[in-house]
Amino acid sequence: MDDLWTRTHQVSEAALASGALQPIATESLAVEEAGIPFTLRILTSLAAKPHARERLSRADRRQANPFLPPDPALRVAEAPPAHRLVLNKFCVIRDHLLLVTRDFEPQQQALTDGDCAALARCLAAGPALGFYNSGPDAGASQPHKHLQLLPLGDAMALPFDPLLTRAAMAGMPQAPELPFRHRLVALPEGLLSEPSQAATWLHRRYREELAALDLTVSDDGRVLAPYNLLVTARWLLLVPRRCERAAGIPINAPGFAGALLVKSRSEAEILINQGLMISLASVVSEGS
Ligand code: AMP
Repeated sequence: MDDLWTRTHQVSEAALASGALQPIATESLAVEEAGIPFTLRILTSLAAKPHARERLSRADRRQANPFLPPDPALRVAEAPPAHRLVLNKFCVIRDHLLLVTRDFEPQQQALTDGDCAALARCLAAGPALGFYNSGPDAGASQPHKHLQLLPLGDAMALPFDPLLTRAAMAGMPQAPELPFRHRLVALPEGLLSEPSQAATWLHRRYREELAALDLTVSDDGRVLAPYNLLVTARWLLLVPRRCERAAGIPINAPGFAGALLVKSRSEAEILINQGLMISLASVVSEGS
């Protein structure tokens, strides 16, 4: 898995050339609100926009399963025993990977030891955000279990990373700047270079933080309420969800690291006028 991102890039180039990959062009808007940075990615207003919108809504359709089997042109690698890595066909960030189970499992099923082992191996391959949208109310458009990976670098930075890292490294279970319910944990230094320890640690902390947020796992292994999970080499963040949309605009996991995606300038304005942090807080469950 060491060469994961090189291989991803190669498959991505080939899939772009063949038309199998259909990236969605965006422009980035940096916004600071009360000293906190955000990035809004906005679909570009070029002639391609109607196609991009159509592609986004196609990506949203829930009936066919695009991962069973995946398009061979989008397949990056097998992640034995139970997973494979597939390019996100309608990517906004290049080299956006989906870590999908080989056999169907529902997206609301709790992450297993095996899911955490596969995620840990991917995170060990280079700087990336691993994330999970558990169910439609947490922003998932596909019901087949899929974690996601975005390579971090110039094209994709996480505006909240410094504040999350600061709080996590100080051993704080919440970042004081984030006024919504969440749990934050620092990954032990060097954890990802020990794959089996990393898998066990990630799975244990994930289950502990689910419990801390009263996110109950049913007897058949489903997490009964929606949530987002975000993991980097330095921290793990869990956010319980109340609903999918803020002012009609869907928010998914990267939003809680300050990276929001909207379909138009007018959607960006709606969120900015309402307040970006207020928008995030409005889709988070306050608990009982
Ligand atoms: P989510 O919407 O967070 O559940 O993530 C699922 C992702 O799968 C979406 O971002 C879609 O763009 C992507 N997707 C939809 N259809 C396909 C496909 N045929 N192959 C690969 N990725 C797809």
